[in-house]
Amino acid sequence: MNKKQTENSSLSLLKLDKEHVWHPYTSMSAPLPSYLVESANGVYINLASGEILVDGMSSWWSVLHGYNHPKLNAAIVEQSTKMSHVMFGGLTHQSAIELCEKLVQLTPQGLDKVFLSDSGSVAVEVAMKMALQYWQSKAGLEKQQQTENNLSESRADKTKLLTVRNGYHGDTFAAMSVCDPVTGMHQIFDKVLMKNIFAPAPTCKFGEPWQVEDIKELTKLFEQHHHELAAFIIEPIVQGTGGMRFYHPEYLKACRELCNQFDVLLIVDEIATGFGRTGKLFACEWAEISPDIICLGKTLTGGYITLAATLCTSEIAETISNGEAGCFMHGPTFMGNALACAVANASIDLLFENDWQQQVQSIEQQLQKLLLPLKSHVRVKDTRALGSIGAVECLQAVNVAVIQKRFVELGVWIRPFGKLIYIIPPLVINKQQISKLVEAMATVLDEDDCFIK
Ligand code: PMP
Repeated sequence: MNKKQTENSSLSLLKLDKEHVWHPYTSMSAPLPSYLVESANGVYINLASGEILVDGMSSWWSVLHGYNHPKLNAAIVEQSTKMSHVMFGGLTHQSAIELCEKLVQLTPQGLDKVFLSDSGSVAVEVAMKMALQYWQSKAGLEKQQQTENNLSESRADKTKLLTVRNGYHGDTFAAMSVCDPVTGMHQIFDKVLMKNIFAPAPTCKFGEPWQVEDIKELTKLFEQHHHELAAFIIEPIVQGTGGMRFYHPEYLKACRELCNQFDVLLIVDEIATGFGRTGKLFACEWAEISPDIICLGKTLTGGYITLAATLCTSEIAETISNGEAGCFMHGPTFMGNALACAVANASIDLLFENDWQQQVQSIEQQLQKLLLPLKSHVRVKDTRALGSIGAVECLQAVNVAVIQKRFVELGVWIRPFGKLIYIIPPLVINKQQISKLVEAMATVLDEDDCFIK
């Protein structure tokens, strides 16, 4: 195809896209523009229109080792020559077994049983269902043994979740019910959502002195509601979609203690923070805690294919399995997809081969040097950096269509939301490429059109 033909083909594809293709959180009647991608390589996204963009988003936190990586490509090709998928009921395969074994070894202690699923939201659904089925099974088993009748009755009442405001756990129904009730989707789906309980968001910031009052309200809610609480769910250390807020590890430690004290399961949603993003392999490690259930996703396959995992303790798995149903009631068609498991294994191997700690440290140092000083800009309320995450919180909301166009003109892919311009690049990004991202952020801060008055 010559240049003219390529342009025409791109235009007609984009026209069809606008007419028929629904994009995330996007109006079908007045959609924001979409940019047609031709290919992606390393940290570069190549648009069909010819621009080459440094990727600051890792395709929503998922890409670790860059796009089109020869080792990840090879893992998929090799697996596809054996089989791409087989049902997981009654059948199993090496890629899934090896992956589950790795996850048990790498995640905090005690998480020994792995349930694979399709996406982060489903991993959260699975975690919530596990918690609910656990208490139901426990109550049933205790009743059978005819011990502590009152206790077993109250355990059957443990059907609610406690969480904190500003959280985000996915878009499916159970997951939505523990997302922030104001900025989440509660208003629209209020009539059908599970009614859960919300504590104030943690206020004590990462890196600042710990203030014990930060857990006062949370403690009260545990005291008032523990008899009806199946689990407490939280994103560890970083509240991502809720505003890239980094909170104090002592808060997470206190969550673990409160869950122990009040017999409530702790679910930690590491879907965004897992696999090195915050400077620890899992953000739980900042607080040196092990949850009862952990959710993993996004970076699990290095951003190649959708796959998620929910890990729990043996005690939870055994209680559920010994309960009335005799098994955990969930089983996705594409559970344990072989292509996804093969690439996840290769991605985890690469993480260690590439010395992820050194990669993340180098990104963090660069963000501290270049991004944190943007705080002095008149339009900026705060800047933060932790591990490979850098955020600029502005005083005004961004005009997404305008700012996105400017970022593309400046040769970067950064997609801000609300008042936040943030980056979370692939771990293989180099210093020059980070500079380019931060320079583009500094440039748009000076441009009135990029913000809503
Ligand atoms: N939990 C957290 C903390 C997330 O950041 C996300 C995705 N942004 C999800 C759950 C949902 O994952 P998915 O989009 O894969 O369903």
